[in-house]
Amino acid sequence: MTAPGSLHARHRAVMPEWLSLYYREPLELTHGEGRHVWDTEGRRYLDFFGGILTTMTAHALPEVTKAVAEQAGRILHTSTLYLDRHMVELAERVAALSGIPDARVFFTTSGTEANDAALLLATTYRRSNQILAMRNSYHGRSFSSIGITGNASWSPTSLSPLQTLYVHGGVRTRGPYAHLSDERFTRACVADLEDMLGQTHGNVAALIAEPVQGVGGFTAPPDGLYAAFRDVLAPRGILWISDEVQTGWGRTGDHFWGWQAHAENGPPDVLTFAKGIGNGMAIGGVVARAEIMNCLDANSISTFGGSPVTMAAGLANLTHLLEHDLQGNARRVGGLLIERLRAVTAGLPAVREVRGRGLMIAIELAEPDGSPSPRAASLALELARERGLLIGKGGREADVLRIAPPLSLTIAEAEEGATILAEVLRQVRDTPGGKDRP
Ligand code: PMP
Repeated sequence: MTAPGSLHARHRAVMPEWLSLYYREPLELTHGEGRHVWDTEGRRYLDFFGGILTTMTAHALPEVTKAVAEQAGRILHTSTLYLDRHMVELAERVAALSGIPDARVFFTTSGTEANDAALLLATTYRRSNQILAMRNSYHGRSFSSIGITGNASWSPTSLSPLQTLYVHGGVRTRGPYAHLSDERFTRACVADLEDMLGQTHGNVAALIAEPVQGVGGFTAPPDGLYAAFRDVLAPRGILWISDEVQTGWGRTGDHFWGWQAHAENGPPDVLTFAKGIGNGMAIGGVVARAEIMNCLDANSISTFGGSPVTMAAGLANLTHLLEHDLQGNARRVGGLLIERLRAVTAGLPAVREVRGRGLMIAIELAEPDGSPSPRAASLALELARERGLLIGKGGREADVLRIAPPLSLTIAEAEEGATILAEVLRQVRDTPGGKDRP
């Protein structure tokens, strides 16, 4: 029930109906510190979702707070019309980290806008609006990015400025090839790609893919799939765009970027990023080889992209990430967390699979007959909250719990979260059918 006059009621009165909130009693957060956040009742939560991976290092990281405050006290305004030291410095660092030779960076304010920019570049460079995207993909909800989002439930219209062809392979756990070994899976997906290309006029602009599908439920193909795709794409001049909005900045532990699990044939032509780099500030961006980046005949494509306050935050955040080897922490603590989650959920019938890499971990839930269980996922989300743990949801059928804490997660916090999740999933198992809570 939404109490009249409550913030929730006011939210509903002024916001679109399709803007849904997590939790039956929506959560209003007041502050955070480290891996914890607090609500208006003073309750503390261990944060295993970081506001959809937007808190990359830690909540209220002192270096970021200081950088933002200092910059806000100096000059807030500006656009891309003037030189800005922070923007240049962050671009230099991102270009060097990207692995793309002769890289150029353009900052935006979101992942959607970054993907829009990547599409603008690829279609202009290739003089084609044909794009290959992966089934079950998510790339944002602007008019062009919904046109490359593989699941209709995440795309509010079927109209699109692009001609999109959807390729098999982004998801290892579902689809017609799911039963195949990794090697045969990869071969089947490559054959599907070739078959698909054989039915076009040959002038496809690009393939865009998330190395690990984020909204799609933290699900990934076998390592090397996109390298095998590249063998097919590169001779035809088709670009590879890696959407690193969720997988970037060491999140997957083993790699700084998700594409590095598919690196045999070199880096992608274009890379997009967003979310965590700003630690809550609105930063997105696109990286591309100079010849691709420079194909546009434009003065700029964003006013606020790369604004000084966000760039100062991004620089402080990236410095902290690198100096504290949070990628290494994601690998170590994420590795322990996934092991622990597998151990504590073993034998629970609601749990179909625990998967992931680094601090990007999913628990896929099923009904007793093996069908996807959005019911169990919604219930688990509520029960975890009651026990002081925030997690995320996702997956094609909304049947997956997503775990993506700030990358500074400690072993003790990982243990605590795993223990709560085990209790939650045992309770989910014991809660019959229906949507009612126990
Ligand atoms: N790409 C991926 C892989 C994403 O997960 C998201 C957001 N969930 C986006 C793009 C869009 O980013 P934003 O919401 O910042 O526009």
